[in-house]
Amino acid sequence: MNSISTAKLLGAIEAGGTKFICVIANEAGEILMRRTIPTEQPQKTLSACDDFFVEAKLRCGSISALGIGSFGPIELNPNANDYGYIKQTPKPGWSGTNLVGFFSQKLGVPVAFDTDVNAAALGEHTHGVTQGCDNFVYVTVGTGIGAGVISGGLLVQGLGHLEFGHILIPRHAHDVNAVSNCPFHENCLEGLASGASLNLRAPSGVSELSLDHPIWIAEIYYLALMCANLTQIYAPEKIVLGGGVMLKQGLLPKIHAEFLRLVNGYAHERILEKVESYIVPSALDGVAGVVGALALARSVS
Ligand code: ZN
Repeated sequence: MNSISTAKLLGAIEAGGTKFICVIANEAGEILMRRTIPTEQPQKTLSACDDFFVEAKLRCGSISALGIGSFGPIELNPNANDYGYIKQTPKPGWSGTNLVGFFSQKLGVPVAFDTDVNAAALGEHTHGVTQGCDNFVYVTVGTGIGAGVISGGLLVQGLGHLEFGHILIPRHAHDVNAVSNCPFHENCLEGLASGASLNLRAPSGVSELSLDHPIWIAEIYYLALMCANLTQIYAPEKIVLGGGVMLKQGLLPKIHAEFLRLVNGYAHERILEKVESYIVPSALDGVAGVVGALALARSVS
């Protein structure tokens, strides 16, 4: 069956530091085509994305809008001269890449643009664990750490986007000598608790280490501390934890217990009574970014 649908189609890109995931979907969010493209030099990666959308158009029809959730830092102010660009990044070759300009010009459709973690937060809001919840925080604990905050149903934005991974935190007693993975900070969350920093501590991998290992004890402390601070700053109704580090079996209950120890009774009774329905796993692990980028596309279609 090769009939070309006349229903509205949407395109989305989850632009990550290691891979770009391109999809097209129908209005219901059903993914019709998907391709994963490695993040290499910008020209190569972007033209491979463009090839995908050319093929998708031939097979399925034209998209009416594109949503991009990108690694950062990026410029999100539509009035800025460099709106839609990736700003100064340690990722070789990518500083100053004009993502929105490239795809607007190639595809000729409206392009909505946000950070990868904000897109994932939107994904959870539209199709995941926080549907119907207008005040929550989504945190990805993967190679890096980032958070998207939805307050009153809207993403929190200011002068630039949140750089939550770089909040400064005290070190755990087991971790005073570890090298931070962040080139800017000796004591930031991403530097001490990201997947990349875990790999720095245990180059052969941490997934096989027991949760009683000092590396995991420190990690549990950092992630619980993060949840305690998010609770006091944003008063969210839920905290959603996603990303590769959270796939470790048994990690979440340990974070719950450490969180309760740290807040020491000073939190809303709903949190204290049922912490397991307050700090929850992502319902869309692995696809929250794409689902959210489709929601971005829908917002401008
Ligand atoms: Zn940092």
